[in-house]
Amino acid sequence: FTEADVYQQSFNPQAYLKEFYSMSDDKEGANTLLMQNLRSLHKMFSLDGLKGDTLIDVGCGPTIYQLLSACECFQEIIALDYTDQNRRELEKWLRNEEGAFDWVPVVKYVCELEGDREKWAEKQEKVRKKVKQVLKCDVTKANPTGPVSLPPADCIVSTLCLEGACKDLPTFRSALKNIGTLVKPGGHLVMVTVLGETYYAFNQQVFSCLCLEKHEVEAAVEAAGFEVRLSEAQPYALIDETMDCRGVLALVARR
Ligand code: SAH
Repeated sequence: FTEADVYQQSFNPQAYLKEFYSMSDDKEGANTLLMQNLRSLHKMFSLDGLKGDTLIDVGCGPTIYQLLSACECFQEIIALDYTDQNRRELEKWLRNEEGAFDWVPVVKYVCELEGDREKWAEKQEKVRKKVKQVLKCDVTKANPTGPVSLPPADCIVSTLCLEGACKDLPTFRSALKNIGTLVKPGGHLVMVTVLGETYYAFNQQVFSCLCLEKHEVEAAVEAAGFEVRLSEAQPYALIDETMDCRGVLALVARR
């Protein structure tokens, strides 16, 4: 199991982005997974009731793709992650600094899903304006943002985080309870989780992944006080050395 401290010491945000989010032609597996997740996020954030003032992104990593559909539904966004270098990499992009990752191909794809590929620059600006804070969190703590306490949000989104952050199913179940406290009663949880995966690798480093089944995720979400509104698993068949993922679950639940 890859402890949070290992993430802090050795997760390289730029290598991660290059491996999984660059949309380059030689990354067929990563591209398939990314586009599938973007379509799922587009669909989930189009559901009735998925709008409000505040959204919290739990385990954001150095990425923004998970905010591209969400930013149309919420006014203010707070992004949380455990590792300093991931939060810094995200801030670099938010401030449009030199050397920040190029998300343009990904942003264009989402704009195309929304019906107007030409709106990509506008959408980038929207994300940059709406993300108000980038803070440290630990999903294994009862108050994930402690010692800071955030007012509960209208929605939380979490993509590909808990399965990496939790060593076993009991820890995963309690992490869902912990992050559940970040959302108001009546608010939503939007999640993208890989199924049947035991590891992912990039930059010659291997990170462990809690091997999950669809029903285990749904049961954990319900035990954390949520009612599942949408839960769709898609098979993932491509096998390469970067991960052994068998499927992806897109889930929306209401607290
Ligand atoms: N959401 C991004 C990043 C996923 S990578 C994406 O969809 O690509 C997994 C992330 O989980 C890393 O950024 C890592 O720093 C974070 N993480 C690992 N353990 C954590 C913990 N205990 N609490 C919060 N975040 C954690």
